[in-house]
Amino acid sequence: MIMIMLGAQGTGKGTVAGLISEKIGIPQISTGDIFRKNINEKTPLGIEADKYISKGNLVPDEITVPLVENVLKSEETKEGAILDGFPRTLEQAEKLDEILKRLNKKVDMVINLTTPKEELIDRMLTRRVCTNQECKATYNIKLHPPVKEGICDKCGSPLKQRADDSDSEAIKRRLEIYEEKTSSLVEFYRNKGVLRTEKVSISINRMAKDVAKEIVEELNK
Ligand code: ADP
Ligand code: ZN
Repeated sequence: MIMIMLGAQGTGKGTVAGLISEKIGIPQISTGDIFRKNINEKTPLGIEADKYISKGNLVPDEITVPLVENVLKSEETKEGAILDGFPRTLEQAEKLDEILKRLNKKVDMVINLTTPKEELIDRMLTRRVCTNQECKATYNIKLHPPVKEGICDKCGSPLKQRADDSDSEAIKRRLEIYEEKTSSLVEFYRNKGVLRTEKVSISINRMAKDVAKEIVEELNK
């Protein structure tokens, strides 16, 4: 089962992917998380990727595509993967198709999360992540705060704000790139007949966890 999460920053992609992953036992593969782990550990990949990430720009395909290919070839994703943050451009989507074809797999489901623009920036500013790289749980201090302020419910580690979430220029740049490059993937996957669009918004009282619950229920039918 290869599932892709689409949607602008702040829609709750990571939350939906994490909840579905937990319930169906297919790993969540977040390119952003992999990059951040490498940045923390100061690996050569991390040092290179940080040059782009800190400014809110995309990491070049020469780095990103082989990274994803290796994950998809690995034992970890034998049963499938929930891709969160990849693909982000048409070129990446086409390369993903080639990789999957070689592995005798295909994209089974694409979940496109939509959230009104005026909510997105606020959601990015109020997002907090667990500092424990093995956990990486995501919270929102307004929408789903941890039980104890600043502490992860799951593992007890401190929470922090991502560097690119506290930089208003980086936030603006990421949303621009989403519009320019990633939003066309909606049409790409609609044409393949695998797209499923879900609105996540406080205005209709529909949160990431509600979407995840529905999808899991349907998958279990
Ligand atoms: P967000 O969706 O909020 O931008 P992510 O954690 O998905 O956060 O990604 C963080 C950063 O990592 C991105 O801004 C980008 O620089 C880089 N990145 C993640 N996935 C990709 C990708 N598929 N292609 C290029 N760069 C990526
Ligand atoms: Zn944690």
